[in-house]
Amino acid sequence: MIIPFNIPFTTGNELEYIKQAIGNRHLSGNGPFTRKCCELLGVKYGFGKCLLTTSCTDALEMCALLLDIKPGDEVIVPAFTFVSTALAFARQGAKIVFIDSKSDNPCMDEDKIEKLITSRTKAIIPVHYGGFPCEMDSIMQIAEKHNLIVIEDSAHAFGSRYKSKLLGTIGHLGCFSFHETKVIHCGEGGMLTINDRKLSERAEIIWDKGTNRSQFQRGEVQKYEWLDTGSSFLLSDLNAAFLFSQLKEGEKIINYKKEQWFLYSSLLKDLGNKGLIKLPLINNNTQYNYSGFYLEAKNLKEREDLRNHLIKRGIQAITHYLDLSGSPYILKNQKIQSISQNENSKRYENTILRLPFYFSLKNNQIKEVAGAIKEFYLQKELYV
Ligand SMILES: *Cc1c(COP(=O)(O)O)cnc(C)c1O
Repeated sequence: MIIPFNIPFTTGNELEYIKQAIGNRHLSGNGPFTRKCCELLGVKYGFGKCLLTTSCTDALEMCALLLDIKPGDEVIVPAFTFVSTALAFARQGAKIVFIDSKSDNPCMDEDKIEKLITSRTKAIIPVHYGGFPCEMDSIMQIAEKHNLIVIEDSAHAFGSRYKSKLLGTIGHLGCFSFHETKVIHCGEGGMLTINDRKLSERAEIIWDKGTNRSQFQRGEVQKYEWLDTGSSFLLSDLNAAFLFSQLKEGEKIINYKKEQWFLYSSLLKDLGNKGLIKLPLINNNTQYNYSGFYLEAKNLKEREDLRNHLIKRGIQAITHYLDLSGSPYILKNQKIQSISQNENSKRYENTILRLPFYFSLKNNQIKEVAGAIKEFYLQKELYV
């Protein structure tokens, strides 16, 4: 590929911090760099209690353990999301109740939540698709009314805000990914943010194999013991050292991506105005992290033709999320029909195309991608 979909961003300082981590002689989890990251996340970004994990999937699994999810429980999860959002709860035996996307945006349709709630519902898991916020005011109101926990899957949303509130700090819990395809990364990594103080102590215990080793390390107890369920969810301090270099540059990354985003958006606006494609909109409620750029084609055929046209030009554009309600695992385990009830999610499955978007992508490459897209519509004689 001449222009791949993603090239992982590096600041250039990663090796220096990794060298320091080696010098610290603490390379396992909950070490000096983990503490430095959490301090920065608090001071610079405004997060509260944070636990670094090996992935967002792990952070979601921690939530399922924290909520004592068991067979018979139900969780409301968007049909249009990554596998992990549902998997973390399904492996505890929960029934996954899929909710449709909004008609104008792939986030969950808050107006469809209430009719899915039953006496067994435990949690709502909004996914801030592409870093765009779900309607958190409505979601929190519904959750409060029905006594449900809200877990924000903020895998794409690091640094985005809804009505000036940082995503991942609005629900009871927030889960982030530091996978190499996300805005800030350390190869593989993640974070759980705990916004409901009542859940903090137990989260820390579940994080470290069901023990109170964190309290022991802080000198709060004489010895550490096995107290609860859990697993080894900690991020190695080597990865935390890498992550620290990225967290320090977070604003720079987001500001630069903002320029790239608006360049794409201005170059493709014309196609959008002619109704040939749909472009994402940043509404007034949103401070956006510019985590990626996608367009919606008219239908599956046009999207696939466009994708193949770009491949021929050496440009890798990729599709996103198969509607999870039709996945073989769900069909086998939940015995539901394969015909999706989630018409908007199904539409996004067929129409979304994600364009190359990464820090080292040059302006002329963005112009090349946009040019190739225009060429496609010209050849189809749809665009004059
Ligand atoms: C990437 C992603 C995840 C999983 O993140 P990992 O860190 O790879 O486990 C979960 N949810 C969403 C919405 C994602 O995009």
